[in-house]
Amino acid sequence: MPSTNPAELLLLLIVMQQSLALPAWLMCARLGIAPAVPAWHWAAASAFAAASVGAAYFSQDPWYSHGLCNMLAPGIFLTLRLGLQTLFRAPRHDGENLVVIVLSVGLSLGGGLAQAPDAWYVWVSSVLSAYCLWRCAQVVGPLVRQELGPPASYVVVTPLRAVALLFLLRFAAAVAWPEGFGVPLRRDTPANVAVLAFLMTFGLMVHLSLGLAVALRLMARLRQLSRLDSLTGLPNRRAADELLVQLIDARDQLGQPASVLAVDVDHFKRVNDQHGHLVGDRALVHLGHLLQAAVRGGDVVARVGGEELLVLMPNTRLPEAAELAERLRQRVEQHPLRVGPLEVPLTVSIGLAELQGRDGLHDWVDRADGALYRAKHLGRNRVEQQALETPA
Ligand code: GH3
Ligand code: MG
Ligand code: MG
Repeated sequence: MPSTNPAELLLLLIVMQQSLALPAWLMCARLGIAPAVPAWHWAAASAFAAASVGAAYFSQDPWYSHGLCNMLAPGIFLTLRLGLQTLFRAPRHDGENLVVIVLSVGLSLGGGLAQAPDAWYVWVSSVLSAYCLWRCAQVVGPLVRQELGPPASYVVVTPLRAVALLFLLRFAAAVAWPEGFGVPLRRDTPANVAVLAFLMTFGLMVHLSLGLAVALRLMARLRQLSRLDSLTGLPNRRAADELLVQLIDARDQLGQPASVLAVDVDHFKRVNDQHGHLVGDRALVHLGHLLQAAVRGGDVVARVGGEELLVLMPNTRLPEAAELAERLRQRVEQHPLRVGPLEVPLTVSIGLAELQGRDGLHDWVDRADGALYRAKHLGRNRVEQQALETPA
């Protein structure tokens, strides 16, 4: 059995690593675990990597094992970069990428024809690979930070920068010591073994960090969806409860006032009975739009039940909240739902309550509900305030 040197063994391990990453990304795309377009790009990057390293492993001809192997390397990082930039909706920079491809192919082939020193291929591929990776980190880093927070941006960006630095180091070493780096990668030299060991480690890190980026985005999306009402797109009860707790905290820590409106559609059952459930649904969406357009910047409208909504108003005392509630009531009354020729009049009853000194979440919302109940009792289509506390 022919003996295998450490460089060959590392090459083989990298080919296997990338050949496994390729179907893994395709599977992620197929199963909907990762968005399809980025996953296809990463599968393509793995194919490039397997081809580039495979050329170095399987061929004895120096043009394949050295020239082609280096020429393909920037392609790996270009496709990886395109996938990440698609995932985080960054501009694609197609012109810039085309320049990298033209330079990689042109300089490699040109160097071959001009009989440049063997280290030439290493210089070209190292500089272009480092550039692609560094630019990717630079473009994607701020978007990851904005979407998923600083820890996630370190996870995504650090391996990219690490591999970029590795390639810059390889370039500098190949300039300083062309004989050591200008040889095919399967040759058992200390430089080759060091480069391949780092490439294998960082290659794994890059795939892991891409996987983590996909998982974190998925979790953020699920978290967001779990807080939204699917019909109206408004925050749901879970989100409303969290915001109410934040307002209570702001009272405790900063003494900030806050008010809440409990809004309920009047005789909504009749809308369903007379026009059908679909029109009822459209009435709820219409109502959501009306209220959202009418509230102020920091206010939040949430759908907390069938035809029940809450309006959360930070930094708002009772008189101001009452004014806003009356404006909302009038707005709904004046804007019936229109479905073709059909006009469906809508009115709402509103109960309002200001956050009091010792209120917990339920005391506060219960008082707004009590006021709403009174508004219903007194004839609907009206605004009622919390019962005033009787002085001791
Ligand atoms: P009130 O003025 O006393 O509030 O009368 P109401 O008819 O609005 O109140 P009630 O609680 O009797 O009925 C609420 C109705 O809201 C019953 C239910 O069918 C309807 N509803 C709840 N959720 C939805 C929904 O998502 N879509 C539709 N179309 N209707 C809904
Ligand atoms: Mg109701
Ligand atoms: Mg109702």
